[in-house]
Amino acid sequence: MRPVTHNTKIKMVEPPAGYAGEGFFSMKMSEAVGLARSNSIWPLPFATSCCGIEFMATMAAHYDLARFGAERLSFSPRQCDLIMVMGTIAKKMAPILRQVYLQMAEPRWVMAVGACACSGGIFDSYSVLQGIDQVIPVDVYVPGCPPRPEAIIDGFMKIQDLVKSEDIRRRESDEYKALLNSYGIQ
Ligand code: SF4
Repeated sequence: MRPVTHNTKIKMVEPPAGYAGEGFFSMKMSEAVGLARSNSIWPLPFATSCCGIEFMATMAAHYDLARFGAERLSFSPRQCDLIMVMGTIAKKMAPILRQVYLQMAEPRWVMAVGACACSGGIFDSYSVLQGIDQVIPVDVYVPGCPPRPEAIIDGFMKIQDLVKSEDIRRRESDEYKALLNSYGIQ
């Protein structure tokens, strides 16, 4: 066994904020959970039209959403925690979107990608839903027709910020229940 030598050139510095004791950082439970959740999001792409093509570019090698820990797309609502709605949503499709949202387990987040999902876009017509927030609560809106992959990634990073900073008890809060109640969701 080699003897342990001490390098006298090593200068000790003050420990960074949050350091306590030997070899570990202390942090709040919600911060640890938030950190893990935000870097392992499983998105469900609810893509109905052209914005979906932009999402394909976002997933492909050049932009590579996998760099953010989100390479595992989920086509089952049971397994995902972020629904990304990309495209025109016809009023006939709204109940299906809502059903998919209801099938997702908590905690769940929603991203409206593109003008159509945000507000109906250019389709101010009798048949198109004028924004998915008429049927489900939305966490992040990404404008554009279509938004470029950079904008989608920016929206995704905003979701990550929300996930990271969310208290683990938020879903049990009265405020959150009131939000769901306003959509008729118990
Ligand atoms: S926002 Fe524009 S690009 Fe996206 S689905 Fe609507 S029409 Fe297509």
